[in-house]
Amino acid sequence: MIELSKYTKELSKLFSTSENILIICHINPDGDSVGAQLALYHYFKAKGKNVSLLAPNNLQEFLKWMDGAGQINVFIKERKKSRAMIKSADLILMLDFNQANRLGEAEECVIESKAKKVVIDHHLDPEDFADLIISDPSKCSTSELVHEIICEINGVKFMNRSYAEALYVGIITDTGNFEHGSYSSRTFRIVADLLDSGIIKEKIINLIYNNFSSDRIRLQGFALNQRMVVIPEFKTAYIYLSKEDLKEYNHVKGDTEGFVNMPLSIKGINFTALFIEKDNFIKLSFRSKGQFPTNEFASFYFSGGGHLNASGGEYTDTLDNTIAYFLKVLKENVWRFEDQV
Ligand code: 5GP
Ligand code: MN
Repeated sequence: MIELSKYTKELSKLFSTSENILIICHINPDGDSVGAQLALYHYFKAKGKNVSLLAPNNLQEFLKWMDGAGQINVFIKERKKSRAMIKSADLILMLDFNQANRLGEAEECVIESKAKKVVIDHHLDPEDFADLIISDPSKCSTSELVHEIICEINGVKFMNRSYAEALYVGIITDTGNFEHGSYSSRTFRIVADLLDSGIIKEKIINLIYNNFSSDRIRLQGFALNQRMVVIPEFKTAYIYLSKEDLKEYNHVKGDTEGFVNMPLSIKGINFTALFIEKDNFIKLSFRSKGQFPTNEFASFYFSGGGHLNASGGEYTDTLDNTIAYFLKVLKENVWRFEDQV
């Protein structure tokens, strides 16, 4: 756990002296990144600050209901407006990522901007791409860290309904609804405060987890039935989906969210991978149980990163070649983590 007071003095000064605050989530924004972003947005709104929001690319469908989500400008949809937003900001807050390339196409413009830049994140080993980096990998989510920071700066606990909903989304999505990740008793104390603020947790759970199309559920069935490969000797299972597979099931952004976790519930399987074919590359997700560092695997072999037990990356080749490469590097590495995997 980090000593927050070491950072909050400087951050508090930046908050009070900045006129135009821009808050950015990471590319392919997840519930935590958007949750932390919107929580900060509602905080600044309550304080009467001028605040704008940016995402490198589109939000997934299941996050669009969140209060303030409609205010998030998408860089790849409105490049000119986004660049102007970045240029006019005097403070840029970047949430839930530790590498500049997670800004996607916005990276160059953000890095060149004269604004003060702050990263708030919970991934290990952040790159040095901001003036102030507040990184606490002991937190289950960036949303939890954001709440701790705001409470420290605000002096007393800050809370309102939209803020609490955003934090709750961040915490449940990054912990798989309190199933994995580094949540602590502190997380539950924060969640207790969120529930006391009047959020309706059943509504949020339904909007996040029970809001799928029938095509998505069928795609899940297909993926598990036809596209899952189990390798018991490596305690590994993977799922692959081609562009045609996705088209067949009328895939929309976010539909494959959570698929990578499913084979982890097979007895004896401690490492899983998901391969999704994109236009020019393969997007990979990794999950593990125990100590196998999927983030190191992702960064070493697939230009990616993330957390110990949840990470992702990319590979620019065909789906077949990517799977062959994965199997090759898996075989080469499996001895290193035999006890864990
Ligand atoms: P997911 O598999 O849900 O897309 O991502 C799981 C975790 O890995 C998240 O914490 C996410 O930030 C990280 N991650 C996913 N893809 C990438 C990637 O291409 N690069 C890096 N650095 N991190 C990634
Ligand atoms: Mn996160």
